[in-house]
Amino acid sequence: MPEECIFCQISHKTQAAEIVFERGNILVFKDIKPKAPVHLLIVPKKHVESIISLEAEDKEMVADIVYTAKEVAKQYGLKGYRLSFNVGREGGQIVDHLHMHLLGGWEKDSQVSE
Ligand code: 5GP
Ligand code: ZN
Repeated sequence: MPEECIFCQISHKTQAAEIVFERGNILVFKDIKPKAPVHLLIVPKKHVESIISLEAEDKEMVADIVYTAKEVAKQYGLKGYRLSFNVGREGGQIVDHLHMHLLGGWEKDSQVSE
């Protein structure tokens, strides 16, 4: 694990975050600068840099991330929401530890433009 990786530090609980769900290799916490009424980050505790660096053996982990999103969204009572990965600098990725954004909680039919 790269010692300077902020999401590794959050996963190892050496850095504070508002954790809302944890199971096995998966951790979910609130984004520090929310871009929606509900903005959560779903991360594997294992350090994987990006979608770009995924190996075949990581497929189950990605499925776990997506399935966790579904479960947590239900807990939050979200009827609709947006899931996204920023991939690489050109894709807007700033933190080099794989994470999926879960955004939601808007008034109906709003915000999702793409
Ligand atoms: P990216 O652009 O890499 O997909 O998004 C990284 C996200 O991580 C951003 O939305 C940013 O607000 C969030 N973030 C960055 N540093 C921290 C932190 O220390 N704690 C939390 N909770 N979120 C962070
Ligand atoms: Zn990391």
